[in-house]
Amino acid sequence: EKFKEGLTKTRDSFAEQMNELFAQYRTVDEEFFEELEEILIGADAGVNTVMELIDELKEEARRRNIKDSKNIAPLITEKLSEKLDKTGDDASLNIQQDGMTVILFVGVNGVGKTTTIGKMAHSFKEEGKKVVMAAGDTFRAGAIEQLDEWGKRVGVDVVKQQAGSDPAAVMYDAIQSARSKNADVLLCDTAGRLQNKVNLMKELEKVKRVISREIPNAPHEVLLVLDATTGQNAMSQAKTFQEATDVSGIALTKLDGTAKGGIVLAVRNELDIPVKLVGLGEKMDDMQPFDAEQFVYGLFR
Ligand code: GDP
Repeated sequence: EKFKEGLTKTRDSFAEQMNELFAQYRTVDEEFFEELEEILIGADAGVNTVMELIDELKEEARRRNIKDSKNIAPLITEKLSEKLDKTGDDASLNIQQDGMTVILFVGVNGVGKTTTIGKMAHSFKEEGKKVVMAAGDTFRAGAIEQLDEWGKRVGVDVVKQQAGSDPAAVMYDAIQSARSKNADVLLCDTAGRLQNKVNLMKELEKVKRVISREIPNAPHEVLLVLDATTGQNAMSQAKTFQEATDVSGIALTKLDGTAKGGIVLAVRNELDIPVKLVGLGEKMDDMQPFDAEQFVYGLFR
């Protein structure tokens, strides 16, 4: 239901274009595929991914002898799901059964990082887990207060220091505090300035070093938060962060705010990092684990 609701803009736009396509091209021919290619690229699905998809569709349509354009819809659904679900269930978060799970959130300012952390805190709490948040973005004005507000809203402790302090020191404090509270999950915010890649890299490395010194194998996830409404910009941010640190998964926010939900495809295929979470609204329960099948159904229902 959440997927259906959150994908309304993308679904409406996609449905309208597909209906036009089927009305205009009744047979599955070269022109049909060209038009379909344009629709998918227009939905931010990524040029390489779309070309691959179209090639596979052509091949399969030929093999199955599909001639009437109306009959190709199920095949399109099938291929889209395949493209989104390449690696089975790696979309699940790496949650520790014993001991504390540490999740680091990285991403540029404004993409929805704080909101995502707040939503995740809420969701873990709902599962009965004890959660602590670390206000590791000591650089952006207001970041600490904003996380604090989320803490109050969802009833989760936030470990913070004053603005401008060393993020690695905040992490150290947060780990000690989370330990003393017997927390199951520690959610860590980080600074999101991209202007200086070397500094970003150094800061993230230092934060990670402090965490792994305290807890071997942690952080257990490094989630890159990307804003779905920013299209190609999100893709280039991702490339920068991939160079700066090991990203284990993507949280794609604001899918409800775009008609170009095809970005999920581009992110999944062209970055080769699993999309693990999607943001489908501003409220605390508007964060969902990514499910390729539900996503594709959400596009067609
Ligand atoms: P940060 O700077 O990366 O920490 O970004 P914020 O968490 O402050 O979010 C920036 C804005 O995006 C806020 O107004 C959020 O309410 C909004 N936002 C975050 N996630 C979503 C989402 O999934 N859907 C929508 N519609 N808005 C979102």
